[in-house]
Amino acid sequence: PIPVITIDGPTASGKGTVSHLVAQQLGFHYLDSGALYRLTALSALRKGVALGDEHALAKLARALHCSFAGEDVFLGQENVAAAIRAEEVGNTASKIAALPAVRQALFGLQLDFHKAPGLVADGRDMGSVIFPHAPLKVFLTASVEARAERRYKQLIGKGFPANMDDLLKDLRERDERDTNRKVAPLKPAEGAYVLDTSAMNAQQAVEQVLGWYAG
Ligand code: C5P
Repeated sequence: PIPVITIDGPTASGKGTVSHLVAQQLGFHYLDSGALYRLTALSALRKGVALGDEHALAKLARALHCSFAGEDVFLGQENVAAAIRAEEVGNTASKIAALPAVRQALFGLQLDFHKAPGLVADGRDMGSVIFPHAPLKVFLTASVEARAERRYKQLIGKGFPANMDDLLKDLRERDERDTNRKVAPLKPAEGAYVLDTSAMNAQQAVEQVLGWYAG
């Protein structure tokens, strides 16, 4: 079988960076499942689709014309890599991700990323729902303060405005929503290794994951 490593965890836990690097080291494909929810959110915000209209949102998700090339993320022909990282888009993504029809609509698209020689899948439910038979599952986490600081640096670095108090509040709200929703709530998948990266840099986390993978 084609190997899959699932890396799940809360927002700003460093999943993106760690998953990217692990995929690079192993020469595997990389699935940023959060980007799919963000693309759906961006599309909904632009089209003015009501965030309570589950049916219309699922339809948008099913019709998503997106592609990935390195750091670039395309919605149709437009590179929206920066636009989908905005906090408003992330918050909207977290709201629509609570809708079962939206999750269902994005299911098949995520499975399409599972190709030889292997996949690193980054998200919230990669190990629990999308790839439950993955040979290695990791749950990456960090304190809310450590995550707010990382997100702060990330936003400033990309030229977005950022405020620590707002970020802490947003992260807590998003954790709350992701953890308490009925479908695919955020928690370690069965058999997942939990890695707290509060006091670790990305390279140390990558080495731990690769170590687990090597068995
Ligand atoms: O990981 P990222 O912050 O880009 O994800 C944006 C939002 O999409 C998350 O807050 C979460 O609610 C949702 N999401 C999800 N399941 C995934 C990936 C992301 O529900 N597999």
